[in-house]
Amino acid sequence: MTSSNDPETSAGATPARSRPKHAPQQHFPVVGNCLQIGGQPVSTLAERAGGRPFYAYDSAVMTRRVEDLRTQLPAAIHLHYAIKANPMPEVVAHMAGLTDGLDVASAAELATALATGIDPATISFAGPGKSLEDLQAAVSAGVIIILESTTEMQRVAELAGSVAAPPTVAIRVNPDFELKASGMKMGGGPKPFGIDAEQVPAVMQQIAALPLDLVGLHIFSGSQNLRPEALIEAHDKTFALALRLAAEAPKPFRWLNIGGGFGVPYFPGEEPLDLAPVVANLRQRVDEALHQLPGVELVMELGRYLVAEAGIYVCTVSDRKESRGHTFLITNGGLHHHLAASGNFGQVIRKNYPVCIGNRVHSDDQETVSIVGPLCTPLDILGERMTLPRAAIGDLVVLFQSGAYGYTASPHRFLSHPPPLEFFL
Ligand SMILES: *Cc1c(COP(=O)(O)O)cnc(C)c1O
Repeated sequence: MTSSNDPETSAGATPARSRPKHAPQQHFPVVGNCLQIGGQPVSTLAERAGGRPFYAYDSAVMTRRVEDLRTQLPAAIHLHYAIKANPMPEVVAHMAGLTDGLDVASAAELATALATGIDPATISFAGPGKSLEDLQAAVSAGVIIILESTTEMQRVAELAGSVAAPPTVAIRVNPDFELKASGMKMGGGPKPFGIDAEQVPAVMQQIAALPLDLVGLHIFSGSQNLRPEALIEAHDKTFALALRLAAEAPKPFRWLNIGGGFGVPYFPGEEPLDLAPVVANLRQRVDEALHQLPGVELVMELGRYLVAEAGIYVCTVSDRKESRGHTFLITNGGLHHHLAASGNFGQVIRKNYPVCIGNRVHSDDQETVSIVGPLCTPLDILGERMTLPRAAIGDLVVLFQSGAYGYTASPHRFLSHPPPLEFFL
């Protein structure tokens, strides 16, 4: 028995006509009322984990996502994976095989990217405050170093003597616009990221006098965007800015990273991004850019869009209790494993991730519960007042949309419980 799994429309759910619902979770089948990932029941994985909470990532879902995206994106776009979304080495190796390059933001991420065996020229290294060790590793490896400041420019120039060819660099531009409605704004106004657009022409002249090979620009204006019109505006402004700066460059650009920012639906009421209008507009911008900058390599970098939906987080109900009319499921997992789901990773108002009871996906016996972790803090919430099948101690709580900014973005040491495991399937 296989059915599509939509935790909030399962049989017997309290009618919630006016209440927004989570987008349906369609990546994982349900067999015998147990959620499956990578062809395995979550109950089997829980046994393999010896009762420890775990993340599981389905490589086939990542593959499908990239293949689907590629059929829609203009062929000239080089697709990169930003590995900070999920730096598990198996995930990075898989994504290296699917994409055209990797974006890293630390020396350790660089080592993970290099270990996949991809051409270092397809790796770019961004991030403010790169240490001398970071920069030395990047220069030695021959990756594209994204300069976030003129200090970094000077430091890389000083390291140029240690290698045969001038280090390859690009300038991260802090644009003079913002990506509207983006979950995390990373450009526009005063920002620690990149060099302000208005200073870039002068910096390009400085670079021309140094032993550095300036290949182009990196313009990243934001993340987690679900609104096509906002992405269209960002693309229009990104290309316009890049072309304006290209006209002032001392030599032609060979590389232009236009950022990414494609979002995934996490919360009730959010819908998957409608790519059609975004790519239709992008096709025009790409054609113009290739006309004006012949031979330029156009890069789009995405993290969560490629991996978030491929991952789940699973923990076990260790207690149930009633408190003044409210039911709590207490689990052995929590914010120390999954900070983002607890609402403490950049959310202004806490909202629930999509959740199901993994070994009891559909049931007529429903209840409204809050799901909390074992930490001694009221912030340790995985689900607040959710209507779910009535769960017993030992049942498995599954959080969807957990393949990005889950394991890697969580404070595992807080309260010294065991860290979660990770399965790459
Ligand atoms: C974090 C980051 C990304 C990835 O963002 P997602 O929302 O995961 O796609 C891409 N580029 C840069 C520069 C980043 O800092």
